[in-house]
Amino acid sequence: MTALVRVGVLALQGDVREHAAILTSLGAEAVLVRRPEQLEDLDGLVIPGGESSVIDKLSRIFGLRDPLRALIAEGLPVYGTCAGLILLADEIEGAIEGQLTFGGLDVTVARNAFGGQVESFETKLDVTGIDGEVAATFIRAPLITRVGPRAQAIAALPGGGVVAVAQGNLLGTSFHPEMNGESRLHERLLELVHERRRVVAA
Ligand code: GLN
Repeated sequence: MTALVRVGVLALQGDVREHAAILTSLGAEAVLVRRPEQLEDLDGLVIPGGESSVIDKLSRIFGLRDPLRALIAEGLPVYGTCAGLILLADEIEGAIEGQLTFGGLDVTVARNAFGGQVESFETKLDVTGIDGEVAATFIRAPLITRVGPRAQAIAALPGGGVVAVAQGNLLGTSFHPEMNGESRLHERLLELVHERRRVVAA
């Protein structure tokens, strides 16, 4: 029997519960992560939306930044939504002074890229590797303005703006799928977890 998959949800700030509920509905054990020891024995991690500068600060105060960076580099599957994507990006535009990211994704993201009236909107998107359209909610969302050679764009808005990327163990979306009960990106994270288990076991 395969052991239950344990997926953490970084629970410093933001919409933690919705992610935990989706992971549980997919048969994973969801672990809310607030302290470094809660990162132990995780098979994957979700970094939720919220305010990236706040999550950055709290992760340093709580001693989570360094262990998290180490886990990302070791190949832990991680999915970041919105602020979570910002935290996974190697480079950000529009950061507040001193704002850091965990990094890992070979991309540049522009914070709060949809100004004015369209700060928040819902749409449906084609995502490479997922059948049928994906429900996507954008809330003061970032845009992916550069996709480096190690990353792959997997979704774009009709105007061409990239809003989802994949790179090895990492997955990032500008939008929130969890607000529409959309679970297929979380499923993709669980696939990355299973792939990694196969590689480790081989
Ligand atoms: N604007 C937020 C930031 O820069 C992200 C918004 C979100 O996660 N919904 O961190």
